[in-house]
Amino acid sequence: MIRTRYAPSPTGDPHIGNIRTALFEYLFARSQGGEFLLRIEDTDRERFVEGGVERIVESLKWLGITPDNIGNFPYQSERLEVYKKHAFDLVRSGYAYICTCSKEKLAADHEHQAKEGKPPRYEGHCRTSEFNLKDLKEGCYVIRMKMPENRKIIVSDLIKGKVEFDTSLLDDQIILKSDGFPTYHLAVVVDDTEMGITHVIRGDEWLSSTPKHLLLYEYFGWESPQFAHLPVILGPDKKKLSKRHGATSALGYKDLGYLPEAIINFMALLGWNPKDEREEFTLSELEKEFKIENVNKAPAVFDIEKLNSINAQKIKDQILKIKTTDNKSKYLDTFGVDGLREGELDLIGRGGYNTLKEAADYIKKLRAGSDYAPEMLIFRKSDKERTLTGLQNARSKMQQLNKWENDEIQNALLQVVTENQLSNGDVFWPVRVALSGEEKSPSPVELAVALGKEETLKRVEGAIDKL
Ligand code: GLU
Repeated sequence: MIRTRYAPSPTGDPHIGNIRTALFEYLFARSQGGEFLLRIEDTDRERFVEGGVERIVESLKWLGITPDNIGNFPYQSERLEVYKKHAFDLVRSGYAYICTCSKEKLAADHEHQAKEGKPPRYEGHCRTSEFNLKDLKEGCYVIRMKMPENRKIIVSDLIKGKVEFDTSLLDDQIILKSDGFPTYHLAVVVDDTEMGITHVIRGDEWLSSTPKHLLLYEYFGWESPQFAHLPVILGPDKKKLSKRHGATSALGYKDLGYLPEAIINFMALLGWNPKDEREEFTLSELEKEFKIENVNKAPAVFDIEKLNSINAQKIKDQILKIKTTDNKSKYLDTFGVDGLREGELDLIGRGGYNTLKEAADYIKKLRAGSDYAPEMLIFRKSDKERTLTGLQNARSKMQQLNKWENDEIQNALLQVVTENQLSNGDVFWPVRVALSGEEKSPSPVELAVALGKEETLKRVEGAIDKL
């Protein structure tokens, strides 16, 4: 059975780049009928953030990529004894050793290396020492794995192909720290083995750790999983992705009014493509179509404009669906708009709103009304007199309407044009400005439906008074 895992460290709200890893792990597993598991890598206590695990779970659930072990996922901090046992197994078999070098000694070495223009590394002082554990005080030693000299280690990566590493450039890595906590390298290998992970899919930044992991698999005599390292994500300026590019945490996007289906669609395209022109995908389509061979080697570019256009489209699609449901009036509740009217929903459904927040802000502004200069009411080919005739007649025609719907309002305004020998601009323009207070806005008919009859008549009345 194919099994992947998402192994975040709870260091805050999971970032969109990190969550993309979860999505690809999820898609790979689902596309092959496999399992997708969660594991919390919380051995770095300094970077631990309270509530971080809850935010990880919330992000995954919100996006609909819930791990199969959601009620019962492992925390590395609860498994310290397991790692310790494995670290000492390697000491016994000669692949690792106890190191008692003090911080001061290591710092002096590094200083010396820096003077010689060499990269900092462990000089191997304790490699051949024999320590009796009973003589050592708890907290005064670490365990290091032995790096073989001059060996080539080849990572056969499912995305990058074969990548070669030279062990003479690698340090004797610490696998168990002096506080008894494992380092990432040891914990990840032990856990991926215990969890039966068949495919490790993770960000590019972990590729350089993989030769160390492969050695550990070899030392333990365990079969290694397959590896796939995802391309890095850059901003449109080709610099490392950051807040500057509009990137934020997955839940940050939720608060801004992005739909989970838009984030999923967008994230899938950050590195993966279907090898044709299609750009719109639902999660279930992706579950069927995802292929690791179609993940690019080259960096992915994070383009907020693209996310916005995907989100705008998904909002339109969603409105079409919810129009037939009973709770449509609650659509923008979380963004502070109560009792959304059908006409207001239609306005948003026309599109053009990148986020639900933008849509809600527009509705709030529309409801509040905007002040405008009286001259704005007069269309450029019109004059005050004709504008007034248009507005006054529009008011009385609309007042007589029994049904307050698009066609009825449209016809009423057209009748005002023909019955008074006016042009469309003498009627539609001032009514539109009267309702929106804006130079540019949706049509007067759509606005009138959205505002309702009473408010529409009030605003037209207000415009007549202004002139
Ligand atoms: N804990 C690592 C992270 O935060 C996981 C790396 C891996 O997937 O092996 O990204």
